[in-house]
Amino acid sequence: MEEDESSGALLKPLVFRVDETTPPVVQSVLLERGWNKFDEQEQNAEDWNLYWRTSSFRMTEHINVKPWQQLNHHPGTTKLTRKDCLAKHLKHMRRMYGTSLYQFIPLTFVMPNDYTKFVAEYFQERQMLGTKRSYWICKPAELSRGRGILIFSDFKDFIVDDMYIVQKYISNPLLIGRYKCDLRIYVCVTGFKPLTIYVYQEGLVRFATEKFDLSNLQNNYAHLTNSSINKSGASYEKIKEVIGHGCKWTLSRFFSYLRSWDVDDLLLWKKIHRMVILTILAIAPSVPSAANCFELFGFDILIDDSLKPWLLEVNCSPALTLDCSTDVLKRKLVHDIIDLIYLNGLRNEGREASNTTHRNSNIDAAKSDRGGLDAHDCLPYESLSFTSRIYNKDDSVVEKAVSVHPKAAPASQLEGEMSGQEDFHLSTKEMAQSKPKRRSRHTPHKTLMPYASLFQSHSCKTKTSPRVLSDHGKAPDPQAGNFVLVFPFNEATLGASRNGLNVKRIIQELQKLMNKQHS
Ligand code: ADP
Repeated sequence: MEEDESSGALLKPLVFRVDETTPPVVQSVLLERGWNKFDEQEQNAEDWNLYWRTSSFRMTEHINVKPWQQLNHHPGTTKLTRKDCLAKHLKHMRRMYGTSLYQFIPLTFVMPNDYTKFVAEYFQERQMLGTKRSYWICKPAELSRGRGILIFSDFKDFIVDDMYIVQKYISNPLLIGRYKCDLRIYVCVTGFKPLTIYVYQEGLVRFATEKFDLSNLQNNYAHLTNSSINKSGASYEKIKEVIGHGCKWTLSRFFSYLRSWDVDDLLLWKKIHRMVILTILAIAPSVPSAANCFELFGFDILIDDSLKPWLLEVNCSPALTLDCSTDVLKRKLVHDIIDLIYLNGLRNEGREASNTTHRNSNIDAAKSDRGGLDAHDCLPYESLSFTSRIYNKDDSVVEKAVSVHPKAAPASQLEGEMSGQEDFHLSTKEMAQSKPKRRSRHTPHKTLMPYASLFQSHSCKTKTSPRVLSDHGKAPDPQAGNFVLVFPFNEATLGASRNGLNVKRIIQELQKLMNKQHS
C-alpha cells in the first residue's frame, strides 16, 4: 500500500509559478522537463514548487515559503546589485582587509555624498597627468542596460546628480579586432547561510559594435557593451573584424581565442573566481536568513589590456532573453539551475524532515526529471564524469558524456591565482590588430567545459570523500551541469561558513594560499 502511495506520489509532476516578468525561456525549459504551470484558479495557493520572477519577493513571501517550495531570489541582495551599495560594501571590505585583495573595482564615488572627494581626486589627477587626459564614467545607481550613462574627460561635461556613481573609466580595455568587450559571468548562490557559491563555466562576451575611440566619448556604440544598445546599432549586422556578425560570443569562444594567443586563460578565470567570492563575502554576513531560495547573479567584468579583470557591476535577474544564436546557452543555464537547486534541496532534508509525502514526492520527481541527478550523485572526485547537454544549431539537445579529470587540470585554481604570476606572452594591443593562429593543444571538451572546479581539485589532492568532508558537516556538491562550486573551497572555509560566517577566517585562508604560492 505504502509502495503504491509513494509511486503514485512519484508520478506527481512538479509545478512552477510565473508572473508576467518571468523570462519565457524559464517557462519553456520547465515545460520541457515535464513540469506543470501553476494555475491560480484551479490549484491550491500553496500547490507549487518553484516561483520564478524578475522582481524580488516580499519578506512575508519568504517567511511563508513552504518546505517544498523554492523562490528564485534571496532577500537583501540589492546590497550587491545597486551600483552605489556595491561600491560602499567593497570600500568597507577594502578598509577591513586591505586594498591588495579588493582592488578589482574601479575607483568609485557615490553622489552626492562623495562630491567633494571626487572633485579633489579629479583635479589632483589632472595635475599629475599634465597634458594627458583622464576619463570618468557617470552611471545611475539603479538603472541598467546602459541607460543614463555619461563618459567624460573634461570637468565641465560632468553633471552632478543624486543617485549616481562616478567611476574611473577603464580607458585601456582589452580590444578584440579593435572592439571593446566585457564578460557576463553567471553566478548562483544557493544559500548564504551557509554560504555556497557556484560559477557557471559558460557565459557571454558582449561587444561594442563600433571601434573603440577615446576621441569620441559620446559614441555609445564604441564605449558601451550592453547588447540592448548595440543590437540597435547600424553595425550590428555587419561582419566585423575578428568578432564577426552581431555583438556576442560565448565565454568558451573568448577563452579559446585567448589561448590561441598563448594567453593564460586559466589564470584569468581563477582571478574571476576570486573576485566573485570576495564580492559576495562583502554582503553575505548582513543578508537576512531565508530558506528555500537562491539567487542567480550576472557579474559584468571588463578585462583591461594587461588582462586585469575589473568588476563593473552585479546584476540581479540577468537577462535571459534569446536574442541571437549565442544566447542559446541560456537554455542550458536554466536547465542547470534547476539541477543545482534540487541537488541542494536534497541536502536540506534534515531540517525539513517533518514535511512528508509532498516534499519527498517532489524531490523524487526532481531527481527523475530531465536533470537526472542520480548518476552524478555517486561520482567520485578522482575521475569526475558527467553528462552535458550540447545544443545543435536547430536548438535540439544532444546528451553528451564529458569527462573532466582534475589531475589533468592545473593544481588548485586559487593557489595559482594567488601567485600574481602574469604569464601572458603577447601584448593585447597586438592581439587586437592581427589574426590569431590556431593551436592544437586544447581538446574540444576543454573548450566546452574549460575547468574542473576548485573544490574538486582540492578534494582530489586531499583524497577526501566527496559527500562528507569533516565534522563541519556535508560539503556542497562540487558540480551540477556547467555550474562548479567555488565557495567553500576547502575544509577550513567550509567550517568558516558554518554557524555564522567567519569572514576574517575565510580571508585568512585566501591569503594563506597566496603566501604559500609566493614562498
Ligand atoms: P548598466 O547597468 O547600465 O549596464 P554598467 O555598469 O554595466 O551599467 O555599464 C554599462 C557598460 O558601460 C558596461 O557594459 C561597459 O561596457 C561600460 N562601462 C561601465 N563602467 C565602466 C568603466 N568603469 N570603465 C569602462 N567601461 C565601463
